[in-house]
Amino acid sequence: MTIEAVELRRVAMPLATPLRTAHGTFDRVEKLLVGVQTPDVVGWSELGTDQAGDRGREVLDAADALLRRDLVPDVLAGAPIGRPSPFPVALAAHAAVEVAVLDAELRAAGRSLAEHLGAERDRVDSGVVVGIAGSTPALLDEVSHRIGEGYRRVKLKIEPGWDHEPVAAASEQHPDLALQVDANGSYTRADAEHLAGLDEFDLLMIEQPLPADDITGHVELAEQLRTPICLDETLTSFEVTKFALARGACSVVNLKPSRVGGLGVARRIHDLCVERGVALWCGGLLETGIGRAVNVALAALPGFTLAGDLSASNRYWETDLTVPFVLDDDGRLAVPTGPGIGVEPLPDVLEAVTTSREILSGTD
Ligand code: MG
Repeated sequence: MTIEAVELRRVAMPLATPLRTAHGTFDRVEKLLVGVQTPDVVGWSELGTDQAGDRGREVLDAADALLRRDLVPDVLAGAPIGRPSPFPVALAAHAAVEVAVLDAELRAAGRSLAEHLGAERDRVDSGVVVGIAGSTPALLDEVSHRIGEGYRRVKLKIEPGWDHEPVAAASEQHPDLALQVDANGSYTRADAEHLAGLDEFDLLMIEQPLPADDITGHVELAEQLRTPICLDETLTSFEVTKFALARGACSVVNLKPSRVGGLGVARRIHDLCVERGVALWCGGLLETGIGRAVNVALAALPGFTLAGDLSASNRYWETDLTVPFVLDDDGRLAVPTGPGIGVEPLPDVLEAVTTSREILSGTD
């Protein structure tokens, strides 16, 4: 396959509802798209990050530098892209290039990504994330709203000071709801007893209770909690995932292809989880339809036994970059069947949200 040029494009995506983070509240999020151009097709991907504002821009700038310096020249020279450095931005940049090249190859060959990966389902269970709300009534309103939209599995973000009360309220109001929580590493080992207090709610899992580098802490916590522990930020590679599972640091895996450096590694982690009978699901990083298509295809593999953070487009965006993903009557998303990732940016939407665009070619 001849790659003539690689496009790096920044877009500013208006959010359907403001994103509240520890660093501010945002009504749009910047994204970096990678377009791999061949004489016949364009392969697309997006850089996986859920950071917004200045932090988001730092991530995109760092990824942009890595892409220009290392990855894009390799792609343009037809050289294989090497192993990524074990840093989140490098892993995400590596994944973005891998996916864009693969998308171009599959489009040229007329094969879908789902078929290429070995997907066995044509629909995947969709879950939704509910962030830290301003109050328990506000949280309950949003949970009810999401259930009304058709979501069958809800994940609540928790942190010290926002855990037992909202979880108790949501589980009391919706006793049959599949409920799980995600702490994004905000607790310490000293919180073990406090976290064990969540056991009474029969949660599906608690995700990343402790910081990413505290594998031993998660091993100890797993012995103290009845609630299964799922790891997310900790699992940055196949080797780390294997180690964490062998040590008993988690019994559930959240897999994000961007976090582990791409689909090749993601596939190996999937196979590892199947081999060990470990529950697996696909996480999200505030993806547009481009990245969502990749995650949905991946989540259609047989080892994904739990609903992922794979919501419909309108959960995040005023207008998605692609034909929107919508929930069906069973709370599922259809796996794209077209060539490559099966979706592409809608030209008018893409134009409207683009803030910068550069084409890098071998002759530069
Ligand atoms: Mg998480």
